[in-house]
Amino acid sequence: MRIIVITCKIKFMNIRSNEPFWLVKNGLLYTYPSLREDISCDILIVGSGITGALMAHSLTEKGYKTVLIDKREIANGSSSATTSMLQYEIDVPLYQLIEQIGEQGAVGSYRACRDAISKLEKLVDEIQSGCGFEKKDSVYFAHQKKDIGWLKKEFDARKAADFDVIWLDKTEIKERYGLIAEGAILSKDGASADAFCLAHDLLHYNSKRGLEVYDKTKLAKVKYAKGQVFAQTENGAIITANKIVYCTGYETQEMLPEKIVKLKSTYAMVSEKNKQLKDDICNTLFWNTDSPYLYMRTTNDGRLLVGGEDENFKNPLKRDALLTRKKDKLVKTITKFLPDVEFVEDFCWCGTFGETKDGLPYIGEHPKFPDTYFVLGFGGNGITFSVIGMEMIGSMLQGELDLLSYYFRFGR
Ligand SMILES: Cc1cc2nc3c(=O)[nH]c(=O)nc-3n(C[C@H](O)[C@H](O)[C@H](O)COP(=O)(O)OP(=O)(O)OC[C@H]3O[C@@H](n4cnc5c(N)ncnc54)[C@H](O)[C@@H]3O)c2cc1C
Repeated sequence: MRIIVITCKIKFMNIRSNEPFWLVKNGLLYTYPSLREDISCDILIVGSGITGALMAHSLTEKGYKTVLIDKREIANGSSSATTSMLQYEIDVPLYQLIEQIGEQGAVGSYRACRDAISKLEKLVDEIQSGCGFEKKDSVYFAHQKKDIGWLKKEFDARKAADFDVIWLDKTEIKERYGLIAEGAILSKDGASADAFCLAHDLLHYNSKRGLEVYDKTKLAKVKYAKGQVFAQTENGAIITANKIVYCTGYETQEMLPEKIVKLKSTYAMVSEKNKQLKDDICNTLFWNTDSPYLYMRTTNDGRLLVGGEDENFKNPLKRDALLTRKKDKLVKTITKFLPDVEFVEDFCWCGTFGETKDGLPYIGEHPKFPDTYFVLGFGGNGITFSVIGMEMIGSMLQGELDLLSYYFRFGR
């Protein structure tokens, strides 16, 4: 008998996913048809991320015949990559924002973000979303002594504006969280959620009460005439609408005549489930005073989610090529800050987001586009801006102006 011996070399393949965690975790939640015929509506929303989904909810609720289109699958833009830390804390510290735009706009913006988180909680409850919304504290920490001076100034500004904040010193931070830092502001009124799931749940809920949703439907051209917009999709279908609302995220920069946003690549990773994470860590969002800053939180299935290492965005290829280097740096940083936590990476990915000069969003009309509104919530707390945008556009459609719209306007 001839014995044939086959030797096979077992190579370790890279089986880690570079897809955002939320896409893998949720899978294909709901799908919709692409648009293949001419239709008409009161309001056309372009973009199915968290902003478009919130906007669609509010407009459907108000009784507008609303159509939403997206060139990708639902919520496959930034909303699939986000770490979804819901904070009232804008990327520009309150004391600096007061210097830049005055107390009314700065404190008003911070308060509106705080209110947005409670509104989102109510909304999640109303539609019974499974997005795992959880109220959390937020810790803004300095690991370098040189940052303590301005962090204390920020603490004083927030206290003066009536935010619920406590100063934590080095020992308290170590005792509570096992975190190595020189000082921190502990704020109430934060939260976290799965924004990808929430966007899906919002669209699913509203599609049962009249909202029309089309995915894989790219807006190619728009004509304006006699108070109407004629939006042509890539495959030739025409949507006739009274108004159009762009919720197209960072890609919107391509259609605007002026530069409003600096695009950044950011890197995120999530650990395997870790039963040893302290409750105080699980109930808190963390970010630090470094530039670029580190941000982290836990997921509600007990993983540590970490992001940062931002770079100027050049193109998706360059952004993605840095992923391995960036994730290794993130693991090193996290091990330095939380030496007692074993971070075993499970998924890593990268995404693009935008920074504005004042950390504020662009919400409202643009002089170059008739019958059109934009909701562009850029920055580290884009999602709270999306909630504000949903309400602001709702008011604008009814001829009312929110005071904050002055601070969020184009051309500021
Ligand atoms: C890694 C990472 C971490 C982040 N962390 C946080 C965080 O912790 N907290 C926070 O608040 N924010 C965070 N952000 C920012 C947040 O994710 C964004 O503010 C938010 O997802 C933007 O949602 P959006 O719906 O406006 O945009 P998107 O989710 O990008 O949706 C825009 C949609 O428009 C569609 N579209 C564009 N052009 C067209 C067209 N011509 N026709 C049809 N459809 C079109 C796109 O396909 C896309 O689906 C983070 C972002 C990243 C990348």
